[in-house]
Amino acid sequence: MKLDGKVALVTGAASGIGHQIARRYVEAGGRVVIADLNIDAATAAAKELGGAKDAIAVAMDVSNEDQVNAGVEKAAATFGTIDILVSNAGIQIVHPIEEFPFAAWKKMLGIHLDGAFLCTKACVKYMYPQKSGSLIYMGSVHSHEASPLKSAYVTAKHGLLGLSRTMAKEGAKHGVRSNVICPGFVRTPLVDKQIPEQAKELGISEDRVIKEVMLGDTVDGEFTTVDDIADVALFLAAFKTNALTGQSITASHGWYMG
Ligand code: NAD
Repeated sequence: MKLDGKVALVTGAASGIGHQIARRYVEAGGRVVIADLNIDAATAAAKELGGAKDAIAVAMDVSNEDQVNAGVEKAAATFGTIDILVSNAGIQIVHPIEEFPFAAWKKMLGIHLDGAFLCTKACVKYMYPQKSGSLIYMGSVHSHEASPLKSAYVTAKHGLLGLSRTMAKEGAKHGVRSNVICPGFVRTPLVDKQIPEQAKELGISEDRVIKEVMLGDTVDGEFTTVDDIADVALFLAAFKTNALTGQSITASHGWYMG
């Protein structure tokens, strides 16, 4: 599948899943804007992906309206437009609800939900007039399932389904599609951080967290990979017609079958 010069803004693309999506998009002939809180890592990622012709970095806290608008404007000024949004930036915070700090709950919803809303609003400004665009939200198996200790994350990831389905309906007359990717566990810094945290909260070994908590419901005990998710993200971005919209696609080694 080819992107033929299409411009993608990928949030949280300095690391993990977003970084691999950006790489796959450049390989497919796209141009990418790596929008991340960590501007040093974003700049290094852009350089690695080929530099100014194909990839630029913009500093952006996705939960800050002014930063999102400035980053999207800079991206569009550099490459001419925005054709694809991958709203991917995210964090994880685990606590039982009775110990969940309210500030941490608000931070989670701010990054995942406010971030998706603000990036969508800023990007459709460029997509609607050109009558085409693809909105892709990074959900999770936790858009469909729940796990203990993850009240804020599960709430945020379920919420993205609502935003994406609404955008499928609002975007249709402007030629804009909207879909959610729902990965199972992928070994990125976000997951590596959770393993010792969950072991401590649950009082079990790190090995048991991996085998039982993370992969216990998969069909084969395997992690999903950044490549798996980048393939799905390319498929959604390059799809040629407006038939594919309002969907969530799960890649999780069968953890969630829906
Ligand atoms: P990661 O920690 O490797 O990368 C996340 C990136 O987001 C980092 O570069 C970080 O700097 C950036 N970021 C964090 N807060 C930001 C903010 N406010 N504004 C802009 N950028 C910000 O994590 P990952 O595992 O690649 O996760 C990417 C997305 O995939 C997240 O939305 C996550 O919830 C989702 N996801 C991950 C997994 C998994 O198992 N790793 C599974 C399902 C869904």
